[in-house]
Amino acid sequence: LVELQNVNKHFGSFQALTDIDLTIPEGQVAIVIGPSGSGKSTLCRTINRLETIDEGGRILIDGKVLPEEGRALATLRAEVGMVFQSFNLFAHKSILENVTVGPIKVKGIKKAQAEKEAMELLERVGVAQQAKKMPAQLSGGQQQRVAIARALAMKPKVMLFDEPTSALDPEMVQEVLDVMVQLAREGMTMVVVTHEMGFARKAGDRVIFMDAGRVLEDTDPESFFTAPQHERAKNFLGKIL
Ligand code: ATP
Ligand code: MG
Repeated sequence: LVELQNVNKHFGSFQALTDIDLTIPEGQVAIVIGPSGSGKSTLCRTINRLETIDEGGRILIDGKVLPEEGRALATLRAEVGMVFQSFNLFAHKSILENVTVGPIKVKGIKKAQAEKEAMELLERVGVAQQAKKMPAQLSGGQQQRVAIARALAMKPKVMLFDEPTSALDPEMVQEVLDVMVQLAREGMTMVVVTHEMGFARKAGDRVIFMDAGRVLEDTDPESFFTAPQHERAKNFLGKIL
């Protein structure tokens, strides 16, 4: 469903991603882990073209090459939902409006229909009661669940999560992970940057370990956590477990 072929990315003389080749089949939950600065966020950002990639590489979503720009890019990008560490809700819009604005503006869905679907999504992530409130009136965990609902409202084919729980107070982490586990069970294709090893073991089909812009290990969670191959992976696990 998502294919990265020979993806390289540099910022000036700094090489942030080197020779990334990955295929993420439909329904797979791929966990991306690695030290700070290893290129995890950059990887996510290239998948929906928040970052360009160097010449010679390409990214395909559902068999279609991600275009450089224009309407075609907007269309393909709508198929890739993204949830960030900081929730990035529109501060001056209500929770409901946060979820309906994309479908209305980008997809041309009628307001009543968009609101109906948004309420179903808010129900699903457990914040339907808060629909009329403003983002600042919600807890971090609630806001992040709204951010997930907002991404889902675009009916994406794949969801990218970049450390979705790392800015949350500990007691709110689980409520967000629960929503993500549910999503994984429903068969959503997901790329999840996280250091939540419980989640990785429970919901992950695959662990991609990155270091210095390269994929060093790509295996199933059990093998990775019990028998990492590379010295750097062992080191890293030693620090976070
Ligand atoms: P963290 O765990 O801290 O979030 P990360 O694995 O997500 O780290 P990235 O944010 O992808 O790492 O960054 C990878 C490298 O690319 C870092 O060295 C970073 O400084 C560099 N980098 C990222 N974005 C830019 C940019 N816009 N301009 C210059 N360098 C950048
Ligand atoms: Mg990052």
